[in-house]
Amino acid sequence: MSRQGILIVVSGFSGAGKGTIMKELLGKYEQYALSISATTRAPRPGEREGVEYFFKSREAFEQMITKGELIEYACYVNNYYGTPKAYVEKKLKEGQDVILEIEIQGARKIKEQFPDAVLLFVTTKDAATLKERLKKRGTEELQVIEQRLSRAVQESEGVEEYDYLVINDDLNTCVDQIHAIIESEHQKTKRNREKIEKIREELKDFSKGV
Ligand code: 5GP
Repeated sequence: MSRQGILIVVSGFSGAGKGTIMKELLGKYEQYALSISATTRAPRPGEREGVEYFFKSREAFEQMITKGELIEYACYVNNYYGTPKAYVEKKLKEGQDVILEIEIQGARKIKEQFPDAVLLFVTTKDAATLKERLKKRGTEELQVIEQRLSRAVQESEGVEEYDYLVINDDLNTCVDQIHAIIESEHQKTKRNREKIEKIREELKDFSKGV
């Protein structure tokens, strides 16, 4: 009996290190599939088409919306971001745990459509570390950093809507914690109904002396 894939949402303040965490997690375990989003944001230096994102014009993105090709989409600091539907459905069917690294509006839409999805929120241990990381990354103008920090203030209001809080202080610890959370989720009785039913039936047979 192969186990059912879990849909996992990972959100977190810009600069919390979600990208690095995802790279580590996927490098370490084969059970995860990371969904690649579509966005109208310009690529950062080093970002490649179809690896970090599918980079789209506004028109092309709006066409994806019209055609119903996205599970969810949101506007974040003046750009569209959205999750292509086909990949997520395919990987879940194949039994993989699919990770969506998306912001809070998207996370809410996913929880509505997939009530069994697991929502994780990643943060640094404090705000100063966040600001420091954003500055160090050096890929955004100061004005964009400020917009991202003010967006973080808004997002911090919604953290309780998530199932788990993960603090990214030490990268390895954080990756191990995320993996442990997902593995525990797999053990939940609600995700193991078939197995429970099977053992129940077997026990009934044994008790009848079959
Ligand atoms: P960045 O520009 O730093 O790559 O991403 C900005 C924000 O957009 C991050 O919080 C990221 O998690 C979020 N994001 C990335 N892809 C998606 C998506 O497909 N849907 C939604 N709702 N948010 C996304």
